[in-house]
Amino acid sequence: MFKEQPSECEDFDSIMESEATAKRWLLKHCWSNHQRFCPRCKSRKNYRLNSGRRRCARCRYTFHDFTGRWINNCNLSAQNWVRVLDLFANETTARQASKDLGLSYNTAYKAMNTIRFAILAHALDARQLIGPDSALGLSLSGRMLKNEPKIESTTVPTPVFGIMDRKEWVFVDLIPGFDIETILHFKLNFQLATVRVGNVVYTDRYQRYDTLICCAGNHPSADYIKGGDSVAIDKDHEGFWRFVSSRLAKFHGVTPQRFPLYLKELEFRYNSRNKDLLSVLADHLCDFVPEQD
Ligand SMILES: [Zn+2]
Repeated sequence: MFKEQPSECEDFDSIMESEATAKRWLLKHCWSNHQRFCPRCKSRKNYRLNSGRRRCARCRYTFHDFTGRWINNCNLSAQNWVRVLDLFANETTARQASKDLGLSYNTAYKAMNTIRFAILAHALDARQLIGPDSALGLSLSGRMLKNEPKIESTTVPTPVFGIMDRKEWVFVDLIPGFDIETILHFKLNFQLATVRVGNVVYTDRYQRYDTLICCAGNHPSADYIKGGDSVAIDKDHEGFWRFVSSRLAKFHGVTPQRFPLYLKELEFRYNSRNKDLLSVLADHLCDFVPEQD
């Protein structure tokens, strides 16, 4: 008799069979058809060194399989990376992941944030979000993530995003030049209705957007935005906003600097809702960190 098999679980088990099978699975997401090329000059001519690394025959650059990729940012085994990806796909918190995997909290947090940055780098508006002048203040050194700079909380920029739900796809766009002061100005001078939930402020419809949203943090302007007006988006009981609003409570401790990461993560999750998330996440994590101009 035909018996249904839980195929996804089986796949996962075979990926996780050993460190070698996990590494092979990750490498599939790094190199198509196992064709290694130089991360610096893209030349396919290279030779293997005794250390296991490779050297480009053209520009002499020495590299290994993960050089220049997001996955190179944390010192995790292949099996642990696959486990982190799986837990991330299931929206597990860094704290829970650290317990499940026996990793320090900092390591689990860094690994999950690396996945978030990789997601961000694949967003349509990635160029505005990543880079030295970006709202995020993300700092990369070469192709490695640097520790975030310490900024006084009141001087942190509070980037504003516009959400547009087109059913099939949702767009979460950074609105250049807007910050919490802009929202306050619209509220006071143009009666734009606003709602505040913890650190997060969102508004009624604005131009083509269903809502404008930002994380106010400790910004003094946020004191003028308390409680909630009635906004159209809260009457939407399906689609992306329902997905976001059920997760807003998790944003309580989020800083304005990290908020774009979480918001773009939700955009990615929603737009990937019919895909094999583990595989898409592995593609992003194994991709090259974009070079800063
Ligand atoms: Zn090269």
